[in-house]
This record gives sequence, C-alpha cells and structure tokens, in this order.
Amino acid sequence: MRVRFFGTRGSIATPGPHTLRYGGNTSCTEVQSSAGTLVILDMGTGATVLGRELMARGEPSRGHILISHTHWDHIQGIPFFAPLFVPGFEWDIYGPRGLHQGLRQTLAGQMQSTYFPVTLEQLGATIRYRELVEGRLRIGDIEVTCRYLNHPALTLGYRLEADGAALVYACDHEPHSHALATGVGDFLGEDRRHAEFLAGADLVVHDAQYRASEYPQKIGWGHSTIEYACAVARLAKVGQLALTHHDPMRDDAAIDALVDSLRSEGFRLAGPHIFAAAEGHEVELSRRPFVAVAKSWLSAEAPPGTALAGRSAVLAMTTPSRIAELSDLLRDDEVHAHVCAVEDAPALAEREKPMLVLLEATGDDRATQACRAVRRLRDIGDGLPIVVVMSSEHHARADGVDDGFTDVLVEPYSPNYARARIRAWPMRAACRWVRPPEPNDEDRRLAATRSLGLWKTPPEERFDRVVRVAAAAFDVPIALIALMERDREWFKSCYGLEIREVLRDDSFCGHAIFERQPLVVSDALLDERFADNPYVTGFPGVRFYAGHPLILSNGCCVGTLCILDVRPRHFDNVGISLLRDLSQFAIAELERSKAEQ
Ligand SMILES: [Zn+2]
Ligand SMILES: [Zn+2]
Repeated sequence: MRVRFFGTRGSIATPGPHTLRYGGNTSCTEVQSSAGTLVILDMGTGATVLGRELMARGEPSRGHILISHTHWDHIQGIPFFAPLFVPGFEWDIYGPRGLHQGLRQTLAGQMQSTYFPVTLEQLGATIRYRELVEGRLRIGDIEVTCRYLNHPALTLGYRLEADGAALVYACDHEPHSHALATGVGDFLGEDRRHAEFLAGADLVVHDAQYRASEYPQKIGWGHSTIEYACAVARLAKVGQLALTHHDPMRDDAAIDALVDSLRSEGFRLAGPHIFAAAEGHEVELSRRPFVAVAKSWLSAEAPPGTALAGRSAVLAMTTPSRIAELSDLLRDDEVHAHVCAVEDAPALAEREKPMLVLLEATGDDRATQACRAVRRLRDIGDGLPIVVVMSSEHHARADGVDDGFTDVLVEPYSPNYARARIRAWPMRAACRWVRPPEPNDEDRRLAATRSLGLWKTPPEERFDRVVRVAAAAFDVPIALIALMERDREWFKSCYGLEIREVLRDDSFCGHAIFERQPLVVSDALLDERFADNPYVTGFPGVRFYAGHPLILSNGCCVGTLCILDVRPRHFDNVGISLLRDLSQFAIAELERSKAEQ
C-alpha cells in the first residue's frame, strides 16, 4: 500500500514562501494498493494537484473518495478535481450519512451557482454517492473500517487494510477527555476505543493542529494536540505517526521546531516514528503483522434510519439551561426528550425505551447509581447509550465515571459539537436492526390475539406437539408458536429455548406478521435487518430463521410458527410449504381456543 500526501494543512489553504516544504494545501491523501485500487482520503485543495497528476498519468479511470466530513477544508478540491469531469471515468464518493441532508446534496451546496460556475450535475464522470455510518466496507482489495471521531460535525475516521498493512486516517478529531490534550493520563471510554481503532497500524495520519499549551483556548474546536496524537499512537503501538492538519499559523520553521522538540522530549523512545506530513511525501507500507480491528463490525453502508426516527431520549437533569439546550438539539433531530430528575432515569428509561439517556453529573454518586440501575434493566439496559453531562472534567473522576457510561459530554461545548455527539451515539451499532412495523389492522389484530384467551397460559400438549414435530422435521434446535401483543412476543409453545418472551422491537416474527407472508432469513449475520439484533449478537446466537404467519379465519394475524437455528441454513420452497402445512395445525388449535372463549 502506497500513501502520498497532497494536502496537509488544516482549516484554510495557506500558500506562501513560509509553507513551501510542508505545503499550504488543505487535506488530501492518496492511497493505492498494490493491486491498483485507488482511494483518496479527503478532497481539500490538495486534490487539485492530485487530479492534475492522475490526468497526466492517464490511469486509473476508476477511483474511490472517502470524505471524513464536509467542512470546507475537506471538500473544496472537489470542484477542481479534473478526473470528475471526464466522461467514462467512474468515481465512488463516500462520506458520513447525514440526518436531514444526503451527501450528494451537501456537496452540491458548495457548487451552487452563487459560489461556483459548474454544478455537481454537470460533472462528466459517472459518480456514485455512498453514505456511511460506523462499520466496515470493502473497496476493491482494501478492507475499510469507519469510526466516528470527535468533531463538531459528524466525522468518520478510516482504517484501511490491504497488502498485509494497515493505515489509519483520523482528521479532524479532538480528545474526548480534555485532560488528555497534554498527552498524559489514562485513556478511558471513547479515548480508549479511539486507541483500539488505531491499534497496530503501520501508519497513522492524525490530526495534530495544536500544541497542548495552545489547547485551553481551542477546546471544542474539534482538533487534537500533537501531544495527544503522540500518546494515542504510542498506546496503540503504531509503526509510524504522520502529524497533519497543520495549523495555518505554523510555518515550515515552526513545524520543524515542533517535531524536533517532540523527539528531544523522548516521544521517539520506544514509540512510533513521528514525522510531520508534507505535500509530495510518499510512504510505502509493507507487509507487517498487525492487530486487526474486531471482525464483528457491521456494514458501514447499513441504513441507520430506524435507529433515530420517531424515538425519544431521557434527559435526567435539573439545570434549566442544559435541559433547554439539549432538548432543542434533540428536537432538531426529531427526537422527543423526556425530562426527569437523575434518580428517576431508570424508571423513565424502562417505560419509554429511549434510544439515549443523558444524565447530569450531580457532584455525588446519584448519576453513577442511576447509570447502574439503567444497565440492569431487562432487555434494554445493555446496549443503551448513556452519556453523562458535566460542567468540568474534574467531576468525571469524582463521580466515578466508569465503563457504565458510554461517554461524557463536558462543558463548554458548542451546539454543533453536542449535536454531532448526540447523533453519533445512537447511530452507532446500538440499535441498527430494523424494528418490525405495525400492521395497518393492529387494533383488530390485538383484539383477535386477546380473544384467544391464551396469553401467558400454561403449556398445552396440543400446541407443544406441533413445535416438536417442526423441530424434528426440519432438524432445528428451536421451534416456537409465538403470539404477538402490543410490545411483547410471548411463546405459547417453546421447543429448545429457555426464554418465553422477547420485546416486539427485537422480534423476527414481527416482520412475518407485518408482511403476512413466510419470512426466511438464511443467515442473520449477513442480513442488514437482523445482523446486530440482540438475539443474533448475543444468546442464543440466531443465524437462521423461518417463520410462517398464523392467520385466523377472521383474517387477523395473531402470531407465527417459527423455527430457528444457530447455524446459517438454506431453506427452499419445499421447506416453506411444509412449514405452511404445520402452521395449519397450529391455526386449527388457535381457532378451537377462540371458539371455547
Ligand atoms: Zn479540517
Ligand atoms: Zn472539520
């Protein structure tokens, strides 16, 4: 894998006699695998030079652009990137998925006629826009992992693995813990996960805009200090660290002095080789054993819409200004805020099943107690993002902020900062599986289910024999007759499973009930709707599901007959018709129950 810098300046292009060696162009890095896959990381003004060079080389006519975020210094080169104008050329442009506006729309914004003579539509090349969330994707022979960084806009860092080497690109990013800007201290929570994202990389290209001494004036601007970049790279045992996003105020001599001082301060000892990224500088990454990122990352191209739409957050806090500010931010994202006192958070979370809990640090252990109680909530406590909001990081230690919290939000933060963070938490894998929609006849359906009089009644042989036969006929470990209430699915008959009920939101059967059609999931891990469903990622580790809706003579679908396996399976039409036959036995018994009521 070959890496070449075309723009290393942060914030604004800074040409002139004093920035000749490190360069004045904003962020742009070219990566090419030995098989020839071309990836461009960010499209700051440096992309203009790269574009000219690619045209001169005459190949490749196909490439991929990974945009960290759409701040100007990362996209301003797009309208000047010559290969986008060539008919027959093909480009995929990837960037973080926005909430209200797509990537294409955002990029088109800077090319409106007020700002630029050519519109995005007039570019000659074939361009595909691909929106990403945290997760993995494959680009040619390059395996890409995306992770949200800490910046006042939703920003992705990228880890590229190919040819037995790993490269991480992390621009723009600020330490989650302000204290870590000095490079000294414990990496906890999100800072630790950032280090894990970098783990063992051969080269890390990292935001290093400020010095620790400058940082107190720059808190919340979304950038790292050189000291933080060095510390995280050393902790992550990376091979080389390229400092980048150079501050426009720092000329060549100042950058030289900076790198010299780092080396004399001993950052070089037993740590990565550190250098400042310079325009035109090329690094060849050769095969080396590295610690790969956990393979369980989900697809970065999964639609996360269901994670946010129509959902709510619990704001457990009493400071009126905070409540007003955070509920405004949530409202912008169409998220309803339920406000309560810190100690009431667990009860409210249990009732409302929010997508996020924001807890105010109170100076005593109430937030910690509330956090633990939320974590203990059945079905929802485990994956729920819990964020503690506090006025100073000093409190973080005093309050015993530990792994129970997902993250901390420390004042002062700008509205944009808080918004980016609030979006990132639920958009992470926490709840990306698709919740079953409610059928149109839900009220009738519920009435029909209740009229059976079977809800939570003891097991009955007439139903149990159906699931026993189903398990034997299909040679599966689990078979169920499930009934669906408003919020819960309960198993009237249950073969091979200890659990008797699940949340409707988590259920597979809810989809079969909505569709009124048999639902077959051959491998849940490969199915975007279910890959991070808690019953797939956790116990019992469902891989295969086939469910047949149980539709009564009055047309109401009250539940399913379903079979599950912990291995992926192929299931053909013969299987589906056999499942239909068996479901007829279950329906006959349900009709009998209805008649007896
Ligand atoms: Zn930037
Ligand atoms: Zn930025």
